[in-house]
Amino acid sequence: MSNQDVRLSFEFFPPKTPAGQEKLDTVKDQLNQFAPDFFSVTYGAGGSTRDNTKDIVTRFKQAGLSVAPHLSFGGDNADTVKALIAEYQAAGIDRIVALRGDMPSGVGGAYQLVYANELVAFIREHFGDHFQLEVAAYPEIHPQAKSYDDDIRYLKGKFDAGANSGITQYFYNPDAYFHFMEQCAKAGISQPIYPGIMPIINFRNLMRFSDTCGAEIPRWLRKRLESFYDDNDSLRAFGVDLVTELCETLLENGAPGLHFYTMNQYEPCATVVKNLGLTPQAD
Ligand code: FAD
Repeated sequence: MSNQDVRLSFEFFPPKTPAGQEKLDTVKDQLNQFAPDFFSVTYGAGGSTRDNTKDIVTRFKQAGLSVAPHLSFGGDNADTVKALIAEYQAAGIDRIVALRGDMPSGVGGAYQLVYANELVAFIREHFGDHFQLEVAAYPEIHPQAKSYDDDIRYLKGKFDAGANSGITQYFYNPDAYFHFMEQCAKAGISQPIYPGIMPIINFRNLMRFSDTCGAEIPRWLRKRLESFYDDNDSLRAFGVDLVTELCETLLENGAPGLHFYTMNQYEPCATVVKNLGLTPQAD
């Protein structure tokens, strides 16, 4: 398989320390050998990483990489959000991951989240077709959704507002993605939806994160991961095999590409990508 057939993207979060920034620069150079379609950089709840996200994507862009900032209204007003998007446009950035985001912790009831479909419509209204817009999709359904069908209806609303493609929350049950794709097609969604892939790096962090974002760790998998106790090397080796198999199943059954939640680490995602044979072709 060549990565010309498969859209590949790698997601980072903005590090808080200079050492973290330095490591990120190394990891992005290492992952760039796989010629990804783009890197993306997350946006902290409430816009808490606004400057950091902007600095990283601008630096990556200047280094000649294709990069997409994640963006939500956070607590900002329309003028501030518009000014930030204008800066991205001026920097030559042409892709944004448009989100509602979550309430930052410790913020009271006055805080109003802006749904992602409204952000997509806002970007289209002010910036036309300049940006390729990615939106979030949830094969296991967003934790706050009233129902399965409601969540699909709201996803369709994001595409109707002008989104080009979706990236999913991570999952370990491929049937959840296949069923979701069928339901999306029935609802009239024809845009591609790329599976989000979470490597298995640390048991406790994965369990904690999965609880908050509504991603299911199947019981058998949880039990298997628990059995490694603190043997992180064995856990990672098991995780790489499991995630490789998951990706193979997804790609063999029509997934148009893969979006890796790298957790700012090279090894776990790179090993999976190599296992899949998604290496750049020599001319
Ligand atoms: P929306 O699509 O707006 O949906 C939110 C909820 O409201 C859903 O339950 C939906 O069913 C419902 N809904 C949607 N539209 C409407 C409407 N018009 N009226 C009524 N109900 C509606 N979080 C971050 O903080 N920073 C990041 O960088 C980040 N990146 C992410 C990247 C990906 C690929 C994914 C999958 C998630 C990411 N998240 C990030 C997490 C995301 O912010 C949360 O899951 C958040 O709770 C929902 O954001 P959303 O854009 O999916 O919201």
